[in-house]
Amino acid sequence: MARRKLVAGNWKMHGVSADLAEITSISLAAESADTDVALCLPATLVERAVRAAPGFAIGGQDVHQNEKGAHTGCISAAMLLDAGARLTIVGHSERREAQGESNADVKAKAEAALAAGISVILCVGESDAVREAGNAVETVAAQLDASIPGGVANPSGFSVAYEPIWAIGTGKVPSIADIGEMHSALRERLKAAYGEAGEQVRILYGGSVKASNAAEIFAVSDVDGALVGGASLKAADFLPIVEAASTNP
Ligand code: PEP
Repeated sequence: MARRKLVAGNWKMHGVSADLAEITSISLAAESADTDVALCLPATLVERAVRAAPGFAIGGQDVHQNEKGAHTGCISAAMLLDAGARLTIVGHSERREAQGESNADVKAKAEAALAAGISVILCVGESDAVREAGNAVETVAAQLDASIPGGVANPSGFSVAYEPIWAIGTGKVPSIADIGEMHSALRERLKAAYGEAGEQVRILYGGSVKASNAAEIFAVSDVDGALVGGASLKAADFLPIVEAASTNP
């Protein structure tokens, strides 16, 4: 079965009520797109975005692994679900680095979200130094092995995002050959973990995706969509990427 592409925006720490109109514009255009589209928003905007864009996939950017308890500032999967979120990012490199999240933390977060019925985009990616040393594929494959959630009953609710750290927000993008090599290595790890069901997990590329490079990236084998940061904040920048995914199914 062919995998339907997913184009997900990561708004990071951007967005207030004045930006709900932008979310509505994106959601209306997404209705006629031949690809799945989602926006992962700051927690403060999730519920209002769900109301402003009914039927559109709104997500969070992180989730705590525990159901409840003394975790100041954290959000559980049940809370995300209660706010109307359908998905969440886990293990973004900005959280792995700034919040010291380990692979074990990321795995636990992914498992908690999936158990609660929240879809997951799990991020992996190498640093500039690792890429320069020629160890990118083995490093990222090992990162996925150590953070992949167990017992994924519904592979279409689980996606991996390959996001080279050095490509995030920099305008730099790996070569098409390097993206292809990494995605096919990650596909092998998914099949090793889940057997044939590993074929159904989407592998997104993330890192400086924009209208001008999206079509070329989406044409790569085993690239099943994109996780988009900066270019997801404005409909005018994001929708051409959605269009490129629709025309490269
Ligand atoms: C991201 O942070 O997930 C990302 C891909 O950012 P950008 O598109 O801005 O590089």
